[in-house]
Amino acid sequence: MKTHDISLAIHPDLPTWPGDPPIELRRISQMEHGADANVTHLSAAVHIGTHVDAPYHFLGGDAPTAEQLALDVLIGPAQVIELPRLGAAITADALEAASIPAGTRRLLLKTRNSALWARGEQTFQEDFVALDAGAAEWVVAQGIQLVGVDYLSVAPFVAPVPTHRILLRAGVIPLEGLDLSEVAPGAYTLYCLPLKIRGSDGAPARAVLISP
Ligand SMILES: [Zn+2]
Repeated sequence: MKTHDISLAIHPDLPTWPGDPPIELRRISQMEHGADANVTHLSAAVHIGTHVDAPYHFLGGDAPTAEQLALDVLIGPAQVIELPRLGAAITADALEAASIPAGTRRLLLKTRNSALWARGEQTFQEDFVALDAGAAEWVVAQGIQLVGVDYLSVAPFVAPVPTHRILLRAGVIPLEGLDLSEVAPGAYTLYCLPLKIRGSDGAPARAVLISP
């Protein structure tokens, strides 16, 4: 049994979504300055690093929020599929051609995005690879319940709305900001535990793959 941490470390150097506040980690109590303990203040949007989206993010109204996401979807067998030769979008055709095993419930897509994390890229990249609307419909039609991607959004930068709405309306959980650079394609067990933030549209998560 081997454990693979596929989470990004939360740090001010991590790229954040354009327009979101920067990640701030500030020591508000410091032993070097005579305090009894070190205490850090964290300030950030909830869609930072490795995180999940809740339906409320793109559906609003009374759609479920982060603390309501089903743990039995976030934990269980998962397939890592590598899509090496891609332009800007993951299409339904690309997924159809990727030999994804029938019955896959949790699908994690490794693309050229993961190389950005491996090299420590700190600047937000607008040309990241993500699922177009057709790919989102394909995911829903297959009965996949969680789809993981290796950049900060499951949807292309230029068209964020359709992909998110198709997935979230169907109850598919987008798991975003994975670092799959050190993980080979194949079958794993996923443990994804988002912070239990009440009423939130998303939540940072620790995501780990276990290989047999
Ligand atoms: Zn998000």
